[in-house]
Parts: sequence; structure tokens; C-alpha cells
Amino acid sequence: MAEEIVDVLIVGSGPAGLQAAVHAVRKKAEVVVLGKPERSSIYRAHVENYLCVDGVTEGSDLLAVALNQARRFGVELLTEDLLSVEQAEDLFKVRIESGRELTARTLVFATGTARKKLKVKGEKEMVGKGVSYCVDCDANFYRNARVAVVGNESAAVDGAVTLTKYAAEVHLVAQKLEVTPQLRAELDKSPVQVHEGEWVKEIGGDKAVESLLLESGGTLAVDGVFIELGAKGMMELVTTLGVMLDSETFSYIATNKKQETNIAGIYAAGDIAGPPWQMAKAVGEGCVAGWEAANYALARKRAAREAA
Ligand SMILES: Cc1cc2nc3c(=O)[nH]c(=O)nc-3n(C[C@H](O)[C@H](O)[C@H](O)COP(=O)(O)OP(=O)(O)OC[C@H]3O[C@@H](n4cnc5c(N)ncnc54)[C@H](O)[C@@H]3O)c2cc1C
Repeated sequence: MAEEIVDVLIVGSGPAGLQAAVHAVRKKAEVVVLGKPERSSIYRAHVENYLCVDGVTEGSDLLAVALNQARRFGVELLTEDLLSVEQAEDLFKVRIESGRELTARTLVFATGTARKKLKVKGEKEMVGKGVSYCVDCDANFYRNARVAVVGNESAAVDGAVTLTKYAAEVHLVAQKLEVTPQLRAELDKSPVQVHEGEWVKEIGGDKAVESLLLESGGTLAVDGVFIELGAKGMMELVTTLGVMLDSETFSYIATNKKQETNIAGIYAAGDIAGPPWQMAKAVGEGCVAGWEAANYALARKRAAREAA
């Protein structure tokens, strides 16, 4: 494989990357997927809003099915991270964790987003057990429960207001709210209990979240905490190639309807291509990216053969 040219190299083995792989390989392209499935955002999620999922289904189970499906079609899965990438004329050369180098005709970036972490005791241990990074995904699990949202920006305020439609009690913990007057007015009209000038010191609980210990020394009894500090894309790898980001927030890769970036042969899909951060959107974009990348790679391969 080291000397071979891969038609479609997909960086990311979450829903977007795996769906891209399935569509590309069925067009008879040679497809390699990089990434660690257990690092996909969906791995620890309890999913109930994805089509064909009837009832709550574990994200890890959905991923296991997707991995088998991709393998069955002939996709090569390497559970390694991409370390560096460079363009060499119309090919892409990448180095992966094992030191191996691969050459590809096309790249599909499907590396998700790194949700900003609060970095307090109890957070990592309780992801999926009361700690969530996505109000839109998980609000329904907190019907009539007590919840808190932590964050200073619009994502946190909007999340807290949304949660009032589900939860019995909603707290918003913020150091200093930085939102538009309109959103602030909406917050003030809502039943959200705002703790401004505060921050979280520790998330408490035994098997699941039970409380938030605040820096002032106070405690909030809650069943869940939503950390809404915004989302940061993994842009280091792509910006080295000159891939353009969105012009408003510079936080995700800009693509057109074919999931093409500004660089020919480079595609992006899923969370890294912007909101909404949902599996259904990731899968849809993955389908288009895999399809288009395979068409492009196979056309280039044919042209190279004809020219030889
Ligand atoms: C707690 C939680 C609950 C959620 N619940 C829901 C829900 O109920 N419904 C819903 O629709 N969505 C939900 N989401 C959102 C959903 O998980 C994401 O929208 C979806 O996983 C995005 O898919 P993706 O393929 O773009 O990225 P991801 O699934 O995050 O996959 C990214 C992949 O990229 C790989 N990667 C990263 N960096 C590198 C690198 N340098 N080299 C190689 N590989 C790399 C990772 O290993 C991973 O395999 C939830 C998210 C969270 C965090």
C-alpha cells in the first residue's frame, strides 16, 4: 500500500467519514479511512433523533454496524491519526502515526469538532452520564429534571432557554454573559435561574451527575450539566493546505453543495463542515463527499492512464 496511490483517503472514522467511505468504495474507488472510532463524538452518545432509530440507541452500537458495513464493502480502516499532510502537484502525501506514508488522489476531511471542555474534575468521567455538550441532542433526556448550562455566549443562553421546554429547573452558570440585548431579554423573560459571575469548580456525583460545586463555594443539585462553550474545529491540519474556512466564524471548513473545498481534490463533511452538529447531517454530507471524491479520483486515474 505504501507505494500505491489511494483514490480516496478519508480522515475520520465517525458517521461522516464512514458514510463517505461506503459511497466511494461502491463506485469502485480504493478507499482508506483513518481515525479512531472511539474518538467519534457519537461514540458515547445515546441517540434517538436519527432516522430508523426507534428508541434510544447507543452511538457506539451504531458505529460498530457502520464499521462492519464499510469493511464488508472493502474499505481499509486504519485506526491511526493523520499527523501531517502536504500537496505534491495533484496528489496528497500524508504521514500517519505509525510513521507510514500514504499518497492519495483525493482527501475527505471528516474529523469532527473538538467540543471545548470545561476541564474540571468529574467532567471526563461523566460524559454520557449527565455531562453533555449538545442541548439539541440530549434535552429530551432531561424531561422534568434539574439541569445546568455552563457558558458565556449565545450557545449557552439559547441552550438554557431551550431546556426550559423540557426540564423542571434550569440554571445558567456564566462568568460574564456576552450576548445580544435581544437574547439577554429572552433569557430574562424565561424561568432560567442565572448565576452570573460564577463558574464551575467540580462536577459531583457517584455513577451520574448529582451536583455542581461552584467556585464561590455554593452547590447546585442537578441531574445534568450542558457544557456549551462553543465548538472548535480541528483546523490545524487543513489550514496548512490552504483550505478556506467559513468567512464569518473561521471555525469550520467552507464547502459547496458537492462538499468541495476551495482546493481541487479536497472535500469536507460532517461537524468539521459546520453546524448543525448532528449525525443525520454528517451522514448526508459524507454521502455527497464520498460520491464526489470517488468521481474526481477515478476520472484523474483514467486521464493519467490515457496519458501514459
Ligand atoms: C455527547 C454527545 C451526544 C450527541 N448526541 C447526538 C444525538 O443524539 N443525535 C445526533 O444526531 N448527534 C448527536 N451528537 C452529535 C454527533 O455525534 C456528531 O454530529 C457526529 O458524530 C459528527 O460526525 P463526524 O463524522 O463529523 O465527526 P465525529 O463523529 O466526531 O468523528 C470524527 C472522527 O475523526 C477522527 N479524527 C480526528 N482527528 C483526526 C486525525 N488527526 N487523524 C485521523 N482521524 C482523526 C476521530 O478519531 C473520529 O473518528 C452528539 C454529540 C455529543 C458529543
